[in-house]
Amino acid sequence: MSLEQHFTCPLPNGVHARPASALEEVVRGFDADVILVNQRTSRTANSKSILAIVGADIRHDDPCIFKVSGPDEKQAMAALTLFLQDQFPHCDESPMGNPKPSDALRLPPCLSQAGALVYRGTPVVPGIAQAQVARFDRKTVPALLPKNGEIDPAIEWPRLETALEKLIADCDTRLSGTDQGIEIELLKVHRSIARDIEFRRLLSEEVNQHRHPAAEAIANAEKHFSDVLIASGSELLCDRTLDIQDVCSQLLLEFYGRQATQAAVKLTGDSIVVADSLTPGQFLALDRKFLKGLVLARAGATSHTVILARAFNIPTLAGVENLADIQFNGHEVVVDADVGVLVTRLTDAARRYYALEKQRIAGRRAHLRTLSMKPAGTVDGHPWKTLAWWFITRLSMKPAGTVDGHLLEIAANIATGAEAAGAFEAGAEGIGLFRTEMLFLDRKSPPDEAEQLKAYQDVLAAAKGRPVVIRTLDVGGDKKLDYLNLPPEENPFLGCRAVRIYPEFEALFRTQIRALVRASAFGKLRVMIPMIATLDEARWVKKVIADEQRKCVEEKTGFDQAMLVGAMIEVPSAVFALKELAGEFDFFSIGSNDLLQYFMAADRMNGRLGALYNPLQPSFLRFLRQAVETAHACKKEISLCGEMGGQARYIPLLAGLELDKLSASAPAIAGLKAELGALKLPDCRELVDEALDCTSAGEVSALLETFASRHNPPLIEESLILLESDATTKEEAIKQAADQLFVLGRTENSRALEEAVWQREATYSTGFGHGFAIPHCKSNAVRYNSMVLLKPRHPLAWNSLDGQPVRVMILLAVREANSTTVHMKVLARLARRIMDPNFRAELENTADPATLCALLLKSLDH
Ligand code: PEP
Ligand code: MG
Repeated sequence: MSLEQHFTCPLPNGVHARPASALEEVVRGFDADVILVNQRTSRTANSKSILAIVGADIRHDDPCIFKVSGPDEKQAMAALTLFLQDQFPHCDESPMGNPKPSDALRLPPCLSQAGALVYRGTPVVPGIAQAQVARFDRKTVPALLPKNGEIDPAIEWPRLETALEKLIADCDTRLSGTDQGIEIELLKVHRSIARDIEFRRLLSEEVNQHRHPAAEAIANAEKHFSDVLIASGSELLCDRTLDIQDVCSQLLLEFYGRQATQAAVKLTGDSIVVADSLTPGQFLALDRKFLKGLVLARAGATSHTVILARAFNIPTLAGVENLADIQFNGHEVVVDADVGVLVTRLTDAARRYYALEKQRIAGRRAHLRTLSMKPAGTVDGHPWKTLAWWFITRLSMKPAGTVDGHLLEIAANIATGAEAAGAFEAGAEGIGLFRTEMLFLDRKSPPDEAEQLKAYQDVLAAAKGRPVVIRTLDVGGDKKLDYLNLPPEENPFLGCRAVRIYPEFEALFRTQIRALVRASAFGKLRVMIPMIATLDEARWVKKVIADEQRKCVEEKTGFDQAMLVGAMIEVPSAVFALKELAGEFDFFSIGSNDLLQYFMAADRMNGRLGALYNPLQPSFLRFLRQAVETAHACKKEISLCGEMGGQARYIPLLAGLELDKLSASAPAIAGLKAELGALKLPDCRELVDEALDCTSAGEVSALLETFASRHNPPLIEESLILLESDATTKEEAIKQAADQLFVLGRTENSRALEEAVWQREATYSTGFGHGFAIPHCKSNAVRYNSMVLLKPRHPLAWNSLDGQPVRVMILLAVREANSTTVHMKVLARLARRIMDPNFRAELENTADPATLCALLLKSLDH
């Protein structure tokens, strides 16, 4: 009788190579047989074979059974139960799915009329790249190898076994030498395939029974397992064939040496690599300096090749059909993984379209850079305060006194070092929260001091002198580390978490502190301790830090003596102990995610408690006010780094609460800065006073809506006046206007905005006559009601009422929420004013953006 455990697959992407490899790792040490049954397909698999597990085609919600029998079945079942409970649900944290090319794909008007050839594909890594094609065709077995013929198994098989062992050893060596998450995963999968018992059994049968040479045996094994996966009809499983191909290629190399080398594609200039499929190993062998884009006939969003392409930011399209039939002839093509198309036979118009796209993306980057240069602040920040803040943040002085709230620094939250550079590009003024858990999760033992030091140094290097707040390990609760063997708890979020486990795992904590102290020599590092609730915890932590700093002095290891140490305020008791805590800590950061859950006694993960778990609860806002006032009374900086800080809509409240800093995810930063730049501090203070008097979150929300509609930026500003535009068509003019709204952060989706304009344009021409056109739309793709004035260098055909080409275009985009009144009112006034020949002449003859802006705003009485 076998022991049985029933379960339902919780993984959105099913059991593919990564979870299968994790399962195989768990069971391989036991003598017991562990059979996995997929009840949906009735397929069974030996759980010690990753290929068999993957071949069982287990998808999300499939009912499954583990059947365990053998001498150590009880222990094996206990390990499996733990695995199912703790590890399995997190084996594949990124549910990416395999998006299909959208049936509703509508090409942007400029592109659809450009006359180039367009092939649809699935965008799996966003971005646009333009370069020459380099084709990659893989053969299973390179021509030089002995594919047919008989051999002596007594010689061939031991050699093949040795090659397999060398391959496994090679994976082990590379695993110990890398700290790159994706590379670690990939190597583990490859190692699992190389030691897979089914894989070996087939190879042995090929050589020992059929007397095939190793090359043929490997080719047949590759085909057999690939066919099984492809026959499943699951795209996820098809993706895994690339991993099998990769292992087989490496095995051939081990066995035959250089003659097994594939004719690799050598990139000599900027290239778009086009391949039917590409294994991760082949991807890594490409010269990434020249690799600008990737087009694959096969490969889904979860293939390791695509995951690598994503990590290296290579725009990638997959599932482009009939790739073999496309005539590239070494021509230049565009991979547009934003729209989801491969564009070939580029015409002048297509080139112009992509030149505009390049400008749009570069314009946004430049705008973000400008924003990131200036400290984020409300409009009435005084220059001397800007200067004072600069000294405080740049010259490592401790904040000396209450910051008066005119300036609000905006920093980024990151979870891996790789995100740091992108965060600064996005306008971050520092890293406000580096969650270090990722460094510790999904591995068998914690990272040592050297590995941690390197990870922290990398972030400090990317920060180039800007402050970096690194939070010490916050595990326990929902984040488990197997190697800590923490006992299960009834209420993990109210249990042994973060700072509470440090005394028990003192060595682990000391190693992290030591790495942080040493890293402090390389930049402006601040350490932050999660879940501080009492003064005792604070003192214990401070003593450990002081010990490690003293040891560094004794060993003559460099570190920053002035490194600031702060506490996260996420346990309500800390707010009431803030005065005492201020004696130990240099700064505070509110973790609103946890603070709100503990304050409202509402689980942050429980969607059903959304009404309670709402940061706009007036009681919570009063609590925040108390925290900020107490910290400032103690002359300590206080910031906020929970999700609440990433919502542009809450910015007036957060500025009015007079927090010193916000930290949010990188993509939110531009929006936060744009929002903040339009505010006046006294208005925000007044708003907070009113919010604190509200009696429900709903009332605060309504208050915010009213405030927002009164404090939006003006309809038009100088940078929305586009003079001397090189647009040659109406389509290009509309695109340029929508792009400029994107550049300035007034829309995040210029294509949707363009489409909304074209929907109107399709019903009637907006060519008003007298050389004027007013294209317009109602769309929530625009953040604020906005207007763009564009004057083309050469008049544009517009199908106007009087047949005249257009010399002045005014694009109007109004949000849907207030569309009926605002849209019609503005449009009607504009149209009335344009009837006036004097007004038209003034608009046409004025070349100064500021005067044009004033003229338009005055005419609209805005
Ligand atoms: C928080 O609690 O607000 C926070 C930033 O920490 P985490 O989300 O990592 O718990
Ligand atoms: Mg927290």
